[in-house]
Amino acid sequence: MDSRRVAVLDRGTVTLVDPAAAVFSAFDLGPARGDGVFETMLVRRGVALKPEAHLDRLARSAALMGLFSPPLADWARLIDLLATTHADGEAALKLMLTRGIEGVSDHTAVGTLSPLAPDVLEQRRRGIAVVTLTLGLPADLRATSPWLLGGVKYLSYAVNMAAQRHARALGADDAVFISLDGRLLEGPTSTIVWARDGTLHTPPLEIGILPGTTQALLFTRADAAGLGTAMSLGTVADLHAADGVWLVSSVRGAAAVTSLDGLRRGDAGLTPTIQELTGVTT
Ligand code: PLP
Repeated sequence: MDSRRVAVLDRGTVTLVDPAAAVFSAFDLGPARGDGVFETMLVRRGVALKPEAHLDRLARSAALMGLFSPPLADWARLIDLLATTHADGEAALKLMLTRGIEGVSDHTAVGTLSPLAPDVLEQRRRGIAVVTLTLGLPADLRATSPWLLGGVKYLSYAVNMAAQRHARALGADDAVFISLDGRLLEGPTSTIVWARDGTLHTPPLEIGILPGTTQALLFTRADAAGLGTAMSLGTVADLHAADGVWLVSSVRGAAAVTSLDGLRRGDAGLTPTIQELTGVTT
């Protein structure tokens, strides 16, 4: 049975529609220009994981783009409706909010539920090979350039998808973006985390990366479990010197980096703990 679902949120009413139905006009600024924001969360056995964190970030992304966003309580009902259609196993739930149709509507709000891509489960289990790719921007540029939408989860992910295709063409599974001045930024769809001498590190938000909900949960739980946590301006050399490196995100959880720019690396046996702390185990 097709487990894909689509729900539309229109003036406070949430409706499940035929997954094959057209929910965006060809004039909608979402598909036309990538002018909108989105969120992706994991559904496990009919329940969406950390929905509040995703809704907070959706509201923040919309505000930073000057987008109208429906009340969060309406989004929460849409999430519940989609999640409860998937009682078994895991699925990916995506929220999309666009600027709507110029002169006609100020937004379009849609949610989808889809099966996990087969490689997600495999990457959780066996880890991933990663290559570093430049984003060509100085690390401090986006903090002072709001038009570059640092920290916003906007729909225009064509560059992020191209980076992943390029990584695969190089024989890797995923990429990590590096700034012009050699600082670690983030993956195209993930936050980078590394461990060194009992402390977990991740880059600071000031460099314009997306605030990751998985990284935030991991660090809160790591603090409680007595592990150190730090926001650190890292370099590729820090990753090579680390005890373990992971790409973390809502649907994949934590995938251990087993090779970086062609050099194999270990995880010091930490991956089960990191996965446990992200709440997404294999
Ligand atoms: N950074 C980017 C650019 C992303 O697209 C994502 C998720 O897709 C993340 C980080 C991780 O965010 P989260 O842990 O909230 O899924």
